[in-house]
Amino acid sequence: MGNAIYLDDRPYVGKNGTAAEVGHMPEALSDRECSCGNKGCIEMYCCGKTLERLMQRHFSDTDISDLFIKYRDTEVFRDFVRCMAVPVATEINILDPEAVFLGGGIVQMQEFPREQLIEHILANTRKPYSAENIKICFSKQSPEYWNVGAAVMGFAQSEK
Ligand SMILES: [Zn+2]
Repeated sequence: MGNAIYLDDRPYVGKNGTAAEVGHMPEALSDRECSCGNKGCIEMYCCGKTLERLMQRHFSDTDISDLFIKYRDTEVFRDFVRCMAVPVATEINILDPEAVFLGGGIVQMQEFPREQLIEHILANTRKPYSAENIKICFSKQSPEYWNVGAAVMGFAQSEK
């Protein structure tokens, strides 16, 4: 679960360049091992690897690109999407930002339930603010956007 924070017209990278790793915030009662070496990271419930694992366990006869087309309203994927909302809502609650932009392979999948994700994010966002005026946007799918993001980041680094 990639993430970046943009503050005062600059990317925020933190002391060691590891800021904004919201995917590695712990889900307190979990001991599921994460690729980072810790246990219980929230992304272990809502990343691409988890999607693949859920497919193999529950829908092994389905191509991964059809998962949300066929099964978006199952409890398995409702829980998956609900977990995706946790780090987003947490970040909103910490930063009270102008907007969040959601992108990447999973939310770009056909029939991914974006409205469910927004609903869960807002359900866990502080009321009345930021919940009443946070902008939740979905980025377009294109490698060009990734390149632009990397270029902006590189430019900001070179200015230090
Ligand atoms: Zn982790």
